[in-house]
Amino acid sequence: MKNQYLIDLIETVKKRNPGEPEFLQAIQEVLESLEPVIDQHPEFIEKGVLASIVEPERIIKFRVPWLDDNGNVQINRGFRVQFNSAIGPYKGGLRFHPSVYEGIIKFLGFEQIFKNSLTGLPIGGAKGGSDFDPKGKSDLEVMRFCQSFMTELSKHIGADTDIPAGDIGVGAREIGYLFGQYKRIQNGFSGVLTGKGLSYGGSLVRKEATGYGLCYFTEEMLKDKGKSFEGKTVVISGSGNVAIYAAEKAMQLGGKVVTFSDSNGYIYDKNGVDLDLVKQLKEVERKRIKEYVTVHPEAEYHEGCSGVWNVKCDIALPCATQNELDIESAKALVSGGVIAVAEGANMPSTPEAIEIFQANGVLFGPAKAANAGGVATSALEMSQNSIRYQWTFEETDARLRDIMIDIYKKSAEAAKKYGMEDNLVAGANIAGFLKVADAMMAYGVV
Ligand code: NDP
Repeated sequence: MKNQYLIDLIETVKKRNPGEPEFLQAIQEVLESLEPVIDQHPEFIEKGVLASIVEPERIIKFRVPWLDDNGNVQINRGFRVQFNSAIGPYKGGLRFHPSVYEGIIKFLGFEQIFKNSLTGLPIGGAKGGSDFDPKGKSDLEVMRFCQSFMTELSKHIGADTDIPAGDIGVGAREIGYLFGQYKRIQNGFSGVLTGKGLSYGGSLVRKEATGYGLCYFTEEMLKDKGKSFEGKTVVISGSGNVAIYAAEKAMQLGGKVVTFSDSNGYIYDKNGVDLDLVKQLKEVERKRIKEYVTVHPEAEYHEGCSGVWNVKCDIALPCATQNELDIESAKALVSGGVIAVAEGANMPSTPEAIEIFQANGVLFGPAKAANAGGVATSALEMSQNSIRYQWTFEETDARLRDIMIDIYKKSAEAAKKYGMEDNLVAGANIAGFLKVADAMMAYGVV
């Protein structure tokens, strides 16, 4: 990077946010790819747009006390980072995982600004969560935690202010408890959360949206180069919401999915995975992925989740967590003949891994473009709540597919316009940024 303003800005962000490597990684990637835009538009510097966009509008941090099943008081930390509301109310998921701290939520909130902008829908960027671990907790413990978390969060959100959704560790069960508590506190039924159950304001396709959207994006990226999912071997990491529905759509599009993983290890089924079994194990019984081989002894289970990238494949879809795919994993995928990698998780590939893909001509779909289907369908849920109506599955799915195709096109066009053809990382950052920057310029200093 040559632009001195951007170099200095990254230094300032480093100084202001010590001990938050994920946040710095996200900032660095975005600012680096904006360099050609900034060179042509010095007004973004002069009007303070860049200095503002790296600073959250508001950070809310709170204590979450709750009682476990033995009657002991437990204390967790809750966060909501309301990063940018230039183009719409704050929107972004809640993550419940022991690794959560302010830096993770800031990185996710920052990424969300550009992702939400790319959807073309009027939503700003935010993220929230807690270091609470739902794993191994009873339903009643999860309920008491969610009620306590929402008791504080409810003071800061609203259908026109900030609309949270799910993320790691926050699925249908948690959203139900959170929404029930919000409704009780506010004495009003509003669309304040998305990912709601179908009986209380949820949208069809929301559950499937991130995984399906990831495959619609990948399909378009492949199509642009005369390729498709048909007959391809697909490696997927994770076995949560995004991974399961990415697998479902990849299979519908003619791919053969051969892996799933969790934080302990991965399964490899050379015959193609039994998706109904994975849904039963993960969505209903909340078991570990290794249980797969008790039903399918012909499949393999390996300890350690990063080994999944050694499985030879044509298409890789990382759908677990940030920085799960490093330089060694990227090299293994390239030597296995991978032709396309698209990110279902947020920032799953390290910067060095992305360099390997780009240097070897692997098609690469970055998270903020490729996994935007979840938040896009959340925005469709907000629209349906506002008009008090529910679209059919087919109608909502068709809108999702159109949005993903549009995101691919916008990202590819922006990359080409700024001299970085086929670099979708840069294209997505630029296309997402320009709309938000334009709105921020219109407001003056705010
Ligand atoms: P889930 O909680 O449903 O599933 C998460 C999966 O990732 C689990 O299989 C989990 O395994 C695995 N995982 C989590 N942490 C780690 C870790 N440190 N190392 C290895 N594996 C890990 O979450 P989602 O499927 O909703 O989210 C997955 C990713 O997709 C996240 O990056 C999220 O931010 C992103 N995303 C999600 C969206 C959504 O709509 N849900 C929208 C856009 C992005 P284990 O059970 O062992 O923890």
